[in-house]
Amino acid sequence: MGRYTGPVCKLCRREGQKLFLKGERCYTNKCAFERRSYPAGQHGQSTEFRRRTKSDYALQMREKQKARRMYGVMERQFRRYFEEALRTPGRTGENLLVLLERRLDNVVYRAGMARSRAEARQLVRHGHFEVNGQKVDIPSYVVKPGDVVRVRESRRDRAVFDMIRQSGLLVQVPQWLDVDLENLSARVVAMPTRADIEAPLEDQLVVEFYSR
Ligand code: SF4
Repeated sequence: MGRYTGPVCKLCRREGQKLFLKGERCYTNKCAFERRSYPAGQHGQSTEFRRRTKSDYALQMREKQKARRMYGVMERQFRRYFEEALRTPGRTGENLLVLLERRLDNVVYRAGMARSRAEARQLVRHGHFEVNGQKVDIPSYVVKPGDVVRVRESRRDRAVFDMIRQSGLLVQVPQWLDVDLENLSARVVAMPTRADIEAPLEDQLVVEFYSR
C-alpha cells in the first residue's frame, strides 16, 4: 500500500487528538481539530458511535495507527522497526519510539528545520541535507550521537530555509539535540530517551498489537 495522500486533518480527527501533521497551521485557530474534534463522516458526531466500547484489539490498533501517522511511516517499514526494537535489549515500546525519533526526517523536524515531518521528509528527499558532511537523501536514515545534520551549503539560500530562519522555532527542541537554527545545523548530543519523546503515544499498546 502506498503512502497516504488524503486530507491529513482527517487523521487527527479520526485519532481524537492533534498529531501536528500540517506545520504552522496546527498552532493556529485554523486547526481543523480545534473546530471539529470528532471523526469525519456521517457517524462522526453520533453519540452511539462515540460511546461504543472499544475492544482491546481496537485500542491497540488505533495506537499503532497513530504512531505510524505521526511519523509518516508505512506499515511494512513500521513492522520492521518493531522487529528491530524487539531484538534490542530494553523495553520494546521505548526502543521502537527511540528508533522512530532517530530517523533523519524526524531530526530535521524536531530541530526546527522544517515545519512538519512531511515537509522534513520532502526536504531530505530533495537532497537539501548532509550528515557529517555527506549528502543524505534518505528520510529513514538513522542518526547516532555525534552526528551533525545540516542544510548543504549550496541549498542554504533557498526561500524555504529563509522562511524557517525568520519564523524561528515552532517546536521545543529536545535535549538530545543541540540546534543552531541560524546556521541550519543540529548536532545529536545523546540518544533520545522515552522522557524526551513528546509523542502522546502508549507504546505498550503498540507492542501488544504486534505481539498478538
Ligand atoms: Fe491535525 Fe494540524 Fe490539521 Fe490540526 S491543523 S487537525 S493538528 S494536521
